[in-house]
Amino acid sequence: MDLSFTPEEQQFREEIRAWVRENLPQEISHKVHNALELTRDDLQGWAKILGKKGWLGYGWPKEFGGPGWTAIQRHLFEEETALAGAPRIIPFGPVMVAPVIMAFGNAEQQKRFLPGIASGEVWWSQGYSEPGSGSDLASVKTKAERHGDKYIVNGQKTWTTLGQHGDWMFNLVRTSNEGKPQTGISFLLLDMKSPGVTVRPIKLLDGSHEVNEVFFDNVEVPAENLIGEENKGWTYAKHLLSHERTNIADVNRAKRELERLKRIAKSEGVYDDQRFRDEIAKLEVDIVALEMMVLRVLSAATSGKNSLDVAGLLKIRGSEIQQRYSELMMLAGGAYSLPLIREAMEAGWQGNFPGGNPALAPLASTFFNMRKTTIYGGSNEVQRNIVAQTVLG
Ligand SMILES: Cc1cc2nc3c(=O)[nH]c(=O)nc-3n(C[C@H](O)[C@H](O)[C@H](O)COP(=O)(O)OP(=O)(O)OC[C@H]3O[C@@H](n4cnc5c(N)ncnc54)[C@H](O)[C@@H]3O)c2cc1C
Repeated sequence: MDLSFTPEEQQFREEIRAWVRENLPQEISHKVHNALELTRDDLQGWAKILGKKGWLGYGWPKEFGGPGWTAIQRHLFEEETALAGAPRIIPFGPVMVAPVIMAFGNAEQQKRFLPGIASGEVWWSQGYSEPGSGSDLASVKTKAERHGDKYIVNGQKTWTTLGQHGDWMFNLVRTSNEGKPQTGISFLLLDMKSPGVTVRPIKLLDGSHEVNEVFFDNVEVPAENLIGEENKGWTYAKHLLSHERTNIADVNRAKRELERLKRIAKSEGVYDDQRFRDEIAKLEVDIVALEMMVLRVLSAATSGKNSLDVAGLLKIRGSEIQQRYSELMMLAGGAYSLPLIREAMEAGWQGNFPGGNPALAPLASTFFNMRKTTIYGGSNEVQRNIVAQTVLG
């Protein structure tokens, strides 16, 4: 196993770095470096910049309009964009549903849906979870009944991230109650502007709006929006989940946030505390270990060796690391991290909060927000079960 980069790969890194320096808007990277709230325009603005360059679908093969990069090149792209302060690419379109459409959609669907995803014009949402169907995803109840050339969809999805912006939604729907629950699920693409779709916000503790409930009341969906075969959706759903879990690990963001943690700790005077520095050091060791694991997977993929199915493992370690750095940042800020004051959150850690003190409030907000990472994309307890079965044997 060779974990060093070739001269060509180093050159590739330089090219990405130079392009990002030229093209990432400064106001967006300022927000990312200071964990300030990103608007829909920030997120979609960056997506469209990448889309124009042909890099929003940076993991796509050339035949579908992607750059056709190797696993290492994709990693270098992710690292350079994260370190430069680019927002995370909203994964639902380019990282999650696109590979399913490529692998299991027909030519017509590929022609219809992939260009809008690649350009960043069309915002996708994920309709998997329902009340009562999260870890036990195969129990989904949202029903799609076939009537001639359309499906009539009734039911409810929940925890739909950023669904308030969604144009389209990919859904797991029940099309049969025969046999095992897994064999009666289909994968349906649904226009969120269709009559009968209601998106209701789930308000978070800090007043922000990130997740939603989505209700379907006799929503008509053309049968041509069915991906693959009816009742085979479980297979497509699992294909998508491995992309989601690897994406959540996000080691490059952890590297950027580690540097931010050090800046905050130094500014708040706790960096001189040996015990606090120990915690930072332990975190840094774990981030390096996670990076090595990611590189091992990439190296195995590049050399054509069978890699372990480690998406779950990466998700567990990556999500725990995200929680630890957000906790240490909050501890470094002390009492000033706590007030959940909207103006303070918008002003950010380096901003000037009315009253004189630097506003540390987003740190507590981020800490609470990061609790989600060990739940979404399949909870870590359930991932441990999967790792125990598939990796440990
Ligand atoms: C912020 C956020 C954003 C999300 N975004 C989306 C989205 O955009 N689209 C979407 O479809 N879903 C989304 N989800 C839903 C997410 O995938 C589910 O919350 C997750 O799968 C867990 O399901 P649940 O909430 O129903 O919890 P449950 O399945 O009810 O689990 C409750 C607890 O029991 C534990 N548990 C359950 N089964 C087992 C088991 N077999 N062994 C051991 N422990 C077990 C779990 O680990 C958990 O601690 C999001 C969730 C959050 C929190």
